[in-house]
Amino acid sequence: MYLALYRKYRPRTFNEVIGQDHIVKTLVNQIKLDKISHAYLFTGSRGTGKTSTAKIFARAINCQNPNNGSPCGECEVCKSLEGTNIDVLEIDAASNNGVDEIRDLREKVKYPPVVGNYKVYIIDEVHMLSSSAFNALLKTLEEPPKHTVFILATTEVHKLPATILSRCLRFDFKLVSLENLSKLLENVLKSENVKFDEQSINVIARAGEGSVRDTLSIADRCVSFAGDELTYSKVISVLGIAEREILINITNKLLAKQTGEVLVELDSVLSSGKSPLVFSNDLISYFRDLLLVYTLGDKSREIVVVKDDIYAEMKKQGIESNYTVIVKAIEILSGVEQELRYSAQPRIVLETALIKIINDSSIIDRIEKIEQELKNFPS
Ligand SMILES: [Zn+2]
Repeated sequence: MYLALYRKYRPRTFNEVIGQDHIVKTLVNQIKLDKISHAYLFTGSRGTGKTSTAKIFARAINCQNPNNGSPCGECEVCKSLEGTNIDVLEIDAASNNGVDEIRDLREKVKYPPVVGNYKVYIIDEVHMLSSSAFNALLKTLEEPPKHTVFILATTEVHKLPATILSRCLRFDFKLVSLENLSKLLENVLKSENVKFDEQSINVIARAGEGSVRDTLSIADRCVSFAGDELTYSKVISVLGIAEREILINITNKLLAKQTGEVLVELDSVLSSGKSPLVFSNDLISYFRDLLLVYTLGDKSREIVVVKDDIYAEMKKQGIESNYTVIVKAIEILSGVEQELRYSAQPRIVLETALIKIINDSSIIDRIEKIEQELKNFPS
């Protein structure tokens, strides 16, 4: 059976948790000092490691011989916690509104753990609990039995009642940096014996947008399409990201303020099956790269990961006289993202946005020109 990369490479120890050093450090210290709290709240975007960290923590506080705070994976307790067991219980609040499970939990919570020191309840997507389930949970949190630990995980912390928040030790999981995601991808692909180049890693890591789970799911899709060798163009075609050449072309026309040509170019992109939203995001990141080229000069070569000929073209575009258009483009395209997502006519939204980039930047340029002329005019 094929195991998804995300599951296969799920962290087993604290060292393997990516990009959450501030949280890991605190948890490990609590374990070392034996100062375990009764209730934890893990918040943050999806795929940032909340549930994985909860599971490691649950095993670590029960482990007979923790290795630098992490579960040893070898002692009797660790082994028994690997399968399903009654000491570490996972409740998915999203799947079954939870009232029954929480009621059940209140019944059983008084019984001591079977194999380890603690009984741990991991409640995923806890914000989905109904209000009666929250009340039931709150009663348990008010007087937790000595041997129980609750770990509540949520992507939407603002939906939790203050009464619950005030009883938990809160940890905010951050989006994982591009650098960390790239490193992870490299390691995973190496272990999977998949060849890759720097560019494809960069594109996948970017598309993962801070989520380990999304990054590895995208990698999964790319590998099943590309086989044992990932290349930039294969990754691009899986993700539906426009090739740099297309971006360079349409940008040249935008910079030359050729409205008609821009629309023709857009038409050919969209008729090849790309969604207006995806293409708009491609344009935004391209313009962001141009801004880097303009502001950093040659130093941008290390950050902007493209082939040499592409970089040469980008250097021609990322210049002072194009600055207004570049900034306007980022501003206008970022502004219509929601509209592109939900509009019934996303194509028209994008067309209008591109026209607006040309018009707005023309006006700004004209005003600046007039201001310059006025300055030169002897008063
Ligand atoms: Zn152990």
